[in-house]
Amino acid sequence: MVLYNPGQFTRYPSEPVDSGIRFHYLGGGNEVGNVGCIIEDNTGTRILIDYGLAPTRPPKYPDQSPPITDAIITHSHIDHIGMVPWLTRFNNVKFHGTSLTAGVSEIMWKDTYKVSKIEGYPLSWDKRDLEYALESWITHEYGEWFAVGAWKCRLHRAGHMPGACMVEIETPTHKILWSGDLDTRDSPNTYGAKPIECDILCLEATYGGKNHPDRKEEESRFVSAVQKIVQRGGVVLVPAFASGRGQDILRILHREAPHLNVHYDGMGTRLTRKWFENPQHIRDPETLMKVWKWTKKVSSKSDRKKALQADVIVTTSGMLDGGPALWYLNRLRNDSANGILITGYQAENSGGRKLLDEGKISIFGNITKIDLEISQFQLSNHAGHSELCKFAKDCNPKSMLLFHAPEESRDVIFSEMGKEIDIHLPVNGIPIHINS
Ligand SMILES: [Zn+2]
Repeated sequence: MVLYNPGQFTRYPSEPVDSGIRFHYLGGGNEVGNVGCIIEDNTGTRILIDYGLAPTRPPKYPDQSPPITDAIITHSHIDHIGMVPWLTRFNNVKFHGTSLTAGVSEIMWKDTYKVSKIEGYPLSWDKRDLEYALESWITHEYGEWFAVGAWKCRLHRAGHMPGACMVEIETPTHKILWSGDLDTRDSPNTYGAKPIECDILCLEATYGGKNHPDRKEEESRFVSAVQKIVQRGGVVLVPAFASGRGQDILRILHREAPHLNVHYDGMGTRLTRKWFENPQHIRDPETLMKVWKWTKKVSSKSDRKKALQADVIVTTSGMLDGGPALWYLNRLRNDSANGILITGYQAENSGGRKLLDEGKISIFGNITKIDLEISQFQLSNHAGHSELCKFAKDCNPKSMLLFHAPEESRDVIFSEMGKEIDIHLPVNGIPIHINS
C-alpha cells in the first residue's frame, strides 16, 4: 500500500535558499527516532540524512522527502534506515554509508517487510524498491572525503554501534557536523566518538539531562545478577537489540563469566555474521570471534527447545514487543528461579515498559502476569548528559541544533549551554535557517 508519492504531500519549502544553510526535519526533530533531515544551501546542493520509521504499532513515518540525489545514512537502526527503500523513486539516488551499515541494511529491510506483512501494517515501499535500494549504496571508509554537489563530506566513527557514523560536511560557507546517534564512551564492540571542530553542530540529545551510571560498575552489577539467578538453578532471559546490545552482552558475559552456557537467538545471529565481513568496524574483532565460537547460536526449533536448559538466553526483541523473547518468556515464566534482565531503555507502550511498570505483558495477545525477578540495567549506547555537553563544548560550534530527544532533555542542555552557543530546537516540518 502506497502511503504517499513524491510531489503530493511534501511540506518542504519550494523556494530556494537565499544564503546560509537551511535545515528541514522530516522527522526526529522534536521526537526520538523516526529521523530524516534535509540540508540545503544556495548552491542548490541538497542532501537527506537518514530516513527512518518509528516501529510503534502502527509504525510512524517521517514526512515525505522532496526529490534528492544523495542521502547519507548514519547507521542501520530501523528509526534511521526504515524508509530508505522508498527513496529509490528518485532516479539514480545514491545512499552513502559505511560498508557495515550497507551490509546490515538488507537484513533490516527484509525483516521490516516481513513484519509489516505479518502485522498487516502498510509499508510505502515494496520488494522491488528494496532490491533497487541495495544497488544504490556507495560505501565509504571513515575519514574519506566524497563530493555531493558543491559540498565535501566525510564520515567519522560515532561510537553508538559498529559502523555507525557522524557526518562532517564542508559547504562553501560553513562546516557542519551531524552527530548521528552518538556515544563518546568505549563499549565492548566499538570505541567512542571524538569531537570535531565545526560551525554548526546537529546533536542527538536522547539523554540530555540524564547521566548514566559508570559503565564498568553497571556491567559488574549485571554480571552479578546473572550469576545469582544461575546459582539458584534459574535461566536468565536477556532481551536485547539485534544490532549492538546483544553482541555487547555476549562479550561482557564471555569476559566475566566464561563458564556460563550462553545461547543467542533472533536476528542478531545473522547480523553478527555481517559484522565479521567488516572487521575494521569492530573493536578487537579477534576477541569477538572467540566470543562467537563460545556462544551457542539458535537456528532451529530444536535448538530453541535446548536453549531452555541454558544458563543465559540473549535474544530479540530488545523491548519485548515480539521475536523469540516472548516465546522464551512464555515457557520460563512458570519457574520462579528464572529471571529477566532488561539492559536498556524501554519505550512507552512497549512490552518491556509494561512488564517493568505492572509486572504484566502481552504474550501472543493475552495479558499475562509474570512472577519472575525482573531487573533493569543501563547499558545504553547513547552518550549521557555530561558526555553530550563535553562533546558539544569540544566541537566548539557557533550554532547547535538539538534533535532526536524528548522535550525536557533539550531544555536541560539549552539552559546549560544556551549562553555560549546559539541553540535551535527543531520542530518537524518547520525549516531553520542559519546564516552566522
Ligand atoms: Zn541508533
